[in-house]
Amino acid sequence: MIQCIMNHTKTTERVVNFNAGPSTLPLEVLEKAQAEFTNYQGKGLSVLEMSHRSGDFMAIRDQAESAIRQLLSISDAYTVLFLQGGATTQFSSVPMYFGQTGPVSFIHTGSWTKKALAEIKKFGQHTLLASSEDTNFDRIPSIDTSAIDPNSSYVYCCSNNTIYGTQFQEFPDTGAVPLVADMSSDILSRPLNIDQFGLIFAGAQKNAGPAGVTVVIARKDWIAANANPNLPLMFQYDKHMKEDSMLNTCPTFSIYLLGLTAQWLLDQGGVAAIEARNQAKAHALYNYIDANDFYTACVNGSSRSLMNVCFKTPSEALDTEFHKRAAEAGFIGLKGHRLVGGLRASIYNAMPSAGVDQLIGFMDEFRKR
Ligand SMILES: *Cc1c(COP(=O)(O)O)cnc(C)c1O
Repeated sequence: MIQCIMNHTKTTERVVNFNAGPSTLPLEVLEKAQAEFTNYQGKGLSVLEMSHRSGDFMAIRDQAESAIRQLLSISDAYTVLFLQGGATTQFSSVPMYFGQTGPVSFIHTGSWTKKALAEIKKFGQHTLLASSEDTNFDRIPSIDTSAIDPNSSYVYCCSNNTIYGTQFQEFPDTGAVPLVADMSSDILSRPLNIDQFGLIFAGAQKNAGPAGVTVVIARKDWIAANANPNLPLMFQYDKHMKEDSMLNTCPTFSIYLLGLTAQWLLDQGGVAAIEARNQAKAHALYNYIDANDFYTACVNGSSRSLMNVCFKTPSEALDTEFHKRAAEAGFIGLKGHRLVGGLRASIYNAMPSAGVDQLIGFMDEFRKR
């Protein structure tokens, strides 16, 4: 199979795509979008050409929302919004909107929380609840929930650190203080108890769909309680909620692809089924890495991410050699993030088990050479 990929990657075959994001999408989703591209379900036009307020597009939007609600068992107490500006915009809009009632209790797990913190500081106070900075973010720190300041406006965390390859296995019980989570790189990878959260946001382009749409799941009463008409309009969650994400022209085609991907997930058996598959893929890869002394995993124990597997060879030169050779063989996106170096395989929902098995085969060939 590797041989076949090697021979055809430049011509006919799709590569095995380990990109961290935007990342691989299910082939079935791409093919469905392709089949419907110029003439959506016999309507005579592309989704790209539809009015965002047309009945046809509203049906697409509603399908995307209901599929996500079904996948994560989201109750009516929560709104599901499709916004623009990426997760990075949420770094600012969450503290601007929700961070005014007290300090943000902050859990620091690496560069994505660092970026969020820089924005939190622009809008208010924060207290550091936990951090793994002392060991260069190689783990999820333990969290003493009794240390949460009850006056905090919220507790902030990032569920999966895409760059360091760490992931929360369970979330802290923050009691009456709402928990906010950046789930950009692991939303829809596993079941969640949504009621534990005040707000979840995720840029879709890692694990949920294409770039251009940001999913926000938030408690309606918390949004209502923090409404502030003096904020810039696009940062007012209550207005987005009231208008069903149609405050202005929404990212129509991205929402359509997100809906197709969510439907694909339902067809796979939902998030519990995909979690089992994600565990099997990640365990196969970590087990292979642990079982020889050529490769080393960068994260150990229960902090290991099922989405982003960070590892390295005995030297930086070999790391470089590895991702170059891998790319030639049709395995792309394996270079570690520039902040941490090494190698990283992002194995999101849409990465088939066969892709991981082929990667392990390539790793073994490379090791022996
Ligand atoms: C990629 C990523 C972001 C940034 O997302 P944008 O949509 O590019 O703004 C934020 N948080 C996490 C965890 C990410 O992986």
